[in-house]
Amino acid sequence: MRRFGRVSSAGIDESGRATEGRPIPVEISVWGPRGQQSRPGLSSEDRPAAGHARACSCCPGRVGSSVQEHRLPESAAATLLSLASRCHARGWAQATSGNFSVRLDAHRFVITKSGLDKGALRAEDLLVVDLEGSPLTEGRPSAETPLHAQIYRRRPGITAVAHTHSVAATVLSRALLAEGYVVLSGFEMLKALVGINTHETSIRLPIFPNDQDVPRLAAQVDAELGDDDCVYGYLLAGHGLYTWGENVNEAARHVEAIEFLLECVLHGRR
Ligand SMILES: [Zn+2]
Repeated sequence: MRRFGRVSSAGIDESGRATEGRPIPVEISVWGPRGQQSRPGLSSEDRPAAGHARACSCCPGRVGSSVQEHRLPESAAATLLSLASRCHARGWAQATSGNFSVRLDAHRFVITKSGLDKGALRAEDLLVVDLEGSPLTEGRPSAETPLHAQIYRRRPGITAVAHTHSVAATVLSRALLAEGYVVLSGFEMLKALVGINTHETSIRLPIFPNDQDVPRLAAQVDAELGDDDCVYGYLLAGHGLYTWGENVNEAARHVEAIEFLLECVLHGRR
């Protein structure tokens, strides 16, 4: 297993994790009856496949359980949609690229459906999957769902994951694939990452070769990174960034900070 902890640091929390407990939001409302989950105008790819959703381990005895059993807190849905919209507006999730998710509990998370414009998502564009990435409600999840699932399985404290396709992440990850990581060092913006309180810090952002076999790619990430607490995210070569947080706001801060830092490194190489 490769380790990607900080190369050097001064006055920082070596654990790199927030110390205060942050309860996972649960069960307030908003998913309606199954019939309200689909909407007119979706492509055939995005329409729910008959019998696609299945029962889950967290709802014992509810074989064929419907979307009503998987309630998404309204605030979590709104924040997740806002995060996707912000990333799209910044040019990091163009042409239906990127995907975003939030954990519901120890067994399930909510993720954006496949192939949708991240600048125009609505609550019905989210669906619930289990920690293996299998859909529990109707719809087709993002093809990269196994990468989200790997993060939730390995990092129990993580409750939100953001995946972007920015120019900086795409270009740098290809240029530095042979090295295996991007070094982010000496920037004030590093303090936006949880556990870092000085610019006199250096972190390595791992880079993995891209792979259209996403379960295989997720297995490689799992083998290489494990549950290394000092990793804030990773890059897929020629593809984009994965990062996460202990809540949606932290994930949003991390994606903004890392994208900013990658742009700095890219500009510095010109
Ligand atoms: Zn992607």
